[in-house]
Amino acid sequence: MEPYRIKVVEPIPITTREYRERVYAAAGYNQFNLTADDVTIDLLSDSGTGALSAEQQAAGMRGDETYAGARSWFRFREVAEDLTGYRHIYPVHQGRAAERILFTALLEPGQVSLSNTHFDTTRANVELVGAVARDIPCPAAKDLDSDEPFKGDIDLVALEEALSGPDDVGQVLMTITNNGGGGQPVSMANIKAASKLCRKHGVPFILDAARFAENAWLVTQREKKYQDRSPRDVAKKAFRLADGCVLSLKKDGIVHIGGMLALNDPDLAKQCELLLIATEGFRTYGGLSGRDLDMCAQGLVEVTDPLYLRERAEATAYLADCAREAGVDSVRPTGVHAVYLNAARLLPHVPPSRFTGHALASELYLAGGIRCAEVGSLYLGEIDSSGELVTPAPFELVRLAIPRRVYTRSHLEYVAETLAGIAKNPEKVPGYRLTEAPAMLRPFRCRLEQVR
Ligand SMILES: *Cc1c(COP(=O)(O)O)cnc(C)c1O
Repeated sequence: MEPYRIKVVEPIPITTREYRERVYAAAGYNQFNLTADDVTIDLLSDSGTGALSAEQQAAGMRGDETYAGARSWFRFREVAEDLTGYRHIYPVHQGRAAERILFTALLEPGQVSLSNTHFDTTRANVELVGAVARDIPCPAAKDLDSDEPFKGDIDLVALEEALSGPDDVGQVLMTITNNGGGGQPVSMANIKAASKLCRKHGVPFILDAARFAENAWLVTQREKKYQDRSPRDVAKKAFRLADGCVLSLKKDGIVHIGGMLALNDPDLAKQCELLLIATEGFRTYGGLSGRDLDMCAQGLVEVTDPLYLRERAEATAYLADCAREAGVDSVRPTGVHAVYLNAARLLPHVPPSRFTGHALASELYLAGGIRCAEVGSLYLGEIDSSGELVTPAPFELVRLAIPRRVYTRSHLEYVAETLAGIAKNPEKVPGYRLTEAPAMLRPFRCRLEQVR
């Protein structure tokens, strides 16, 4: 059960199918165009959508809004230093600001950034400085159905080859958990081996640690050597194997806004500090208010609570198991922050060119007011200017992201029941065609129509 009870409540909109048909058509069948009032259960993102604890709210009241050297900064730094062990800690307004600052200081045009999988903003920030983002996930990541415990790992053979090859590698970035790769965890053995290779070749090894606590939890559950260690111990060890991290506190900081850049190298840190002051804010607040910093500090303490992590992981697995029983498969084994539904298997009559994942995501909205994100050809495929699919994505998935401490098991049961209803007559689900297909940031800006 949830190791907390509810003290503040917020009503959720209950709507009819008829209403949803109307507003979704007006939204161009793009869930990013829906408003909060049209959504009953919002599984679009686990980013900045969590519930604050009473202690975080109290910490927020203690927030010190002094411009430089605020007490909130020292409290934030103490927690961040203890957790990560890095010498230079910089708050930023969210994860992508840390990415932009670090990559501007660290990467040269033409250099290569290697990763188990770059998150989309991470890739964009690598490319914006003229470097090349190359993903080298482990081979096990390609099999959606196997129960391999660490499908988030980086391919160590490919990593060693790339590091010894002709390319100028500017950094190795390990994403924990691997968000782009189905939210799968990275083992400590893999982090250790990648760290060793980077040291040998003199290449900076950076963690993209948005879900550091969820990764640590899965390590305690799946990696024998760590089964008796606390998630906090595992997380501390992971940070200490790297030279620094970029971190979106909107995930495992359990706050609505916040991020962090942390580094050991004093020269690199100096350059980053300059960029930070020029674009985010002075080094003791980095674009956050004092109350944000205090709530982040408290969130970073709460997030490694094993009772919280266990319940969160079990709730996600519960949703995946209910869906599976109803005939809807998802990427195995289930991670913590999301369930990735296998839309291609449920809707074989909707080809990738009719956006299989988007078809299932749309039906979840129409049938139950549930909003979620397609991770398939609409998002990752190659599409021409007329909106036709040229190269499909490797998989047609739908991500049900679970906000932290927000929905109860009964909300998840409702999601499972809605899915079960769709799985009874999957052939009724229509495909979609793009009517507006902007070249950049397509998923956020496109419009579509149904094809029956
Ligand atoms: C969310 C996320 C980011 C970017 O963080 P923002 O706070 O959204 O800017 C980077 N990497 C990963 C893995 C993420 O999940």
